[in-house]
Amino acid sequence: LVTYLCGLSLIPSPVLILLDSKAQQTELEWISYPPNGWEEISGLDENYTPIRTYQVCQVMEPNQNNWLRTNWIEKGNAQRIFVELKFTLRDCNSLPGVVGTCKETFNLYYQETDSEVGRSLRENQYVKIDTIAADESFTQGDLGERKMKLNTEVRIIGPLSRRGFYLAFQDVGACIALVSVKVYYKKCWSIIENLATFPDTVTGSEFSSLVEVEGMCVSDAEEEADNSPKMHCSAEGEWLVPIGKCICKAGFHQKGDACEPCGRGFYKSSSQDLQCSRCPAHSFNDREGSWRCDCEDGYYRALSDPPSVACTRPPSAPQNLVYNINQTTVSLEWSPPADTGGRNDVTYRVICRRCSWEPEECVPCGPNVGYSPAQSGLVDTYVTIMDLLAHANYTFEVEAVNGVSDLSRTQRLFAAVSIATGQAAPSQVSEVIKEKVQQRSIQLSWQEPQQPNGVITEYEIKYYEKDQKDRIYSTVRSKSTSATVNNLKPSTAYVFQIRAFTEAGYGTYGPRLEITTKEEATAAIVSSEQNPVIIIAVVAVAGTIILVFMVFGFIIGRRHCGYSKADQEGDEELYFQFKFPGTKTYIDPETYEDPNRAVHQFAKELDASCIKIERVIGAGEFGEVCSGRLKLPGKRDVSVAIKTLKVGYTEKQRRDFLCEASIMGQFDHPNVVHLEGVVTRGKPVMIVIEYMENGSLDAFLRKHDGQFTVIQLVGMLRGIAAGMRYLSDMGYVHRDLAARNILVNSNLVCKVSDFGLSRVIDDDPEAVYTTTGGKIPVRWTAPEAIQYRKFTSASDVWSYGIVMWEVMSYGERPYWDMSNQDVIKAIEEGYRLPAPMDCPPGLHQLMLDCWQKDRAERPKFDQIVGILDKMIRNPNTLKTPVGTCTRPISPLLDQSTPDFTAFCSVGEWLEAIKMERYRDNFTAAGYSSLESVARMSIEDVMSLGITLVGHQKKIMSSIQTMRAQMLHLHGTGVQV
Ligand code: AMP
Repeated sequence: LVTYLCGLSLIPSPVLILLDSKAQQTELEWISYPPNGWEEISGLDENYTPIRTYQVCQVMEPNQNNWLRTNWIEKGNAQRIFVELKFTLRDCNSLPGVVGTCKETFNLYYQETDSEVGRSLRENQYVKIDTIAADESFTQGDLGERKMKLNTEVRIIGPLSRRGFYLAFQDVGACIALVSVKVYYKKCWSIIENLATFPDTVTGSEFSSLVEVEGMCVSDAEEEADNSPKMHCSAEGEWLVPIGKCICKAGFHQKGDACEPCGRGFYKSSSQDLQCSRCPAHSFNDREGSWRCDCEDGYYRALSDPPSVACTRPPSAPQNLVYNINQTTVSLEWSPPADTGGRNDVTYRVICRRCSWEPEECVPCGPNVGYSPAQSGLVDTYVTIMDLLAHANYTFEVEAVNGVSDLSRTQRLFAAVSIATGQAAPSQVSEVIKEKVQQRSIQLSWQEPQQPNGVITEYEIKYYEKDQKDRIYSTVRSKSTSATVNNLKPSTAYVFQIRAFTEAGYGTYGPRLEITTKEEATAAIVSSEQNPVIIIAVVAVAGTIILVFMVFGFIIGRRHCGYSKADQEGDEELYFQFKFPGTKTYIDPETYEDPNRAVHQFAKELDASCIKIERVIGAGEFGEVCSGRLKLPGKRDVSVAIKTLKVGYTEKQRRDFLCEASIMGQFDHPNVVHLEGVVTRGKPVMIVIEYMENGSLDAFLRKHDGQFTVIQLVGMLRGIAAGMRYLSDMGYVHRDLAARNILVNSNLVCKVSDFGLSRVIDDDPEAVYTTTGGKIPVRWTAPEAIQYRKFTSASDVWSYGIVMWEVMSYGERPYWDMSNQDVIKAIEEGYRLPAPMDCPPGLHQLMLDCWQKDRAERPKFDQIVGILDKMIRNPNTLKTPVGTCTRPISPLLDQSTPDFTAFCSVGEWLEAIKMERYRDNFTAAGYSSLESVARMSIEDVMSLGITLVGHQKKIMSSIQTMRAQMLHLHGTGVQV
């Protein structure tokens, strides 16, 4: 039996054995009760290994109840226990005489306890598992051999809750041999599935239960997002239903059930990728387990570039950059760069710089310049740049950029062009203020346009009744930034628009401004306008006021800071001071008892916190002159010059310093340097003036010798004359008008500066003491001012003539190296400066007019502006053939007649004496040079067919002067 049964047991693999009777070779020593029941018998199995069995066969006696109990079995983790029984059972039929007592089954029980409970056996403490019957029983074969069949039955118990249990077998009268008892439970063995480790897991308590188990990722692996690894351990000890998984981290790839690092030269950027990949172009790595490759030198990866793309570099410069200028608009076009750097996100950006005449001094163009379609991020290879300044130099750089340009520290590659813009009309006049609204007139004032683009010679004020729309409109012109429009209807809405005029033409009109005139006055007042009695009364009152002012003028006398009453005499001064009515009049700050009041009357007190000093640009008499920025609340910040009063000043110095502001603050004209304000309540005391980028005119011209057109120079002169016209209209006498006291801004607009007489005396290096006691800049000063201190607007006109000469000679020193004494003497003798090189004769004539000995003969500034405007409008009058006419530079000219030696042709001379109608007569008779003309007699003149006696005389007198000048200049006789 034993031999037969050995080796037949087939236990499934995921089992843990708690008891195996076969494995024990010594006695089992289970408890058997009663003693004649179950009996332990030794045997051998098929391998002759001793085994232990229990047998019982009390088939003859009725009412058998034989118990056999195993030793205590500790269950460990198990919840569901398998009991496998192997036994043989004798067929009752094969036993004679046992009918009624022989049984063919036995019962299986168990008892749960937490520990061993001794060797007594109490039936009622056992729980029945099942009644076990044999599948087969064995019988005596026909041929007498014994046929046996080993039965195997498995029963499951559980769930168990105590630490251990006993099994018990109850025999009720069968013939049984219990060959083996095996008790086991099942578990799912630790496995690695989907790169997750699942630990040994005991099966659940129920047959159908699945135990859910979380997996742990193997090293260098991570859980897949939202998909953590799980498995289920079945009651049979099998892993079922895997869910989720682990994946190898970046830099690692899967090999079997493990993650291995990527090799050198390979990378894996994400856990999602399955495989390591070779480094993309222009990248490398020399470490194992890399998630990315590093770029080679000079190559980059944009932030948005995935590690899988090649490293790239900035593109090369755009090619074939061409431009086209239309006034102040520049269009640029180019071809794509030869090398895009390996990327397809190339765009273009334009950098605009405005350059001063000095090529290396370029500044960014700032926000006022427009770009179409844009300044950067350009996809197409063209751009238009608008709203540039007229007559200005610009440099444009076009750069191709791609996703890695900003990462690269290598030098920028760009294509560049330098361009000079053309002329352009001025920009809009937008800031218009209604100064005074009357019944029949409206007074307006406005600011010069932001971009004058040249010298503004005139403003046009267009107006119409609002109801008329602009079908019928009128215009008024003004040379300054204010105008009064008269002859309007009372109580009527008018619309005004203003535009500026320069040599480039009219700008566009500014926005419409609607103003309604005042209501018709009451009857009494209306009649007063026509009532002669009232008119007389008004005139009488006005006359009295004038008289009072005149007397007052005499008493106060002094009009300039530090200018004493004794110096001030004569009627002309008073005429200028009390111009009446209409024009604003200059008030001498010295007439104020408290100079501080004067400053605050005319100058705005600025908060020092609005001023940012940037750098020192010069030295003034009272302290440093700096450049900086002024940002007033609600206004855009502006460049300013800041004059400071040095520390340790005396009260007089402070007064004199602020005196300039008190004077400047009274002026408001585009050609007079504009005062922004003063800081008197903080330290240092400051005067803040508009910034004039190009500094003083004399130095500016010397720096740019020969670089401007005659029109540009005349434009500058026109500006200075307009500024002086304004000052003289206000009754202000400058006394130190000279190119060094004119400032130039970036648009070449010239503005009169340096106010306050103390400056002339103390500050101007050109001022010298004269015999009359004062300190005077002799070369610029009219003879009457030198001799008896007769400073008037007419003496300013003289100085203006000298400024003209300075401008046309690009900053040459007037009278060169002659001594002051010689200059005074030469002027007294009637000699005057000759025309500078290439100076149009018309301009030199104007200078000579300014240098008339008799000051009443000199032109007024108003006339000078008119003459220059004409020249600008008709530039042909200015054209002289450059270089065709060389003339001696140093000798002075006799001032009484035009400088005939300055004329290059007979035609020019005739034009200058207004006899150009005879040009053909001279040509026909063969008088082609001035030398031949100088030899002509009155008969020669008559023979040309000039019959009018007046003309004959005029021509002849001019020829005689010419002859004298030639004699004087060349020392050569001209034979008559
Ligand atoms: P001043 O004391 O007025 O003679 O000024 C001294 C120097 O400072 C001048 O020669 C100019 O070079 C410079 N300067 C004065 N005012 C300005 C200004 N408004 N803008 C630019 N530079 C100025």
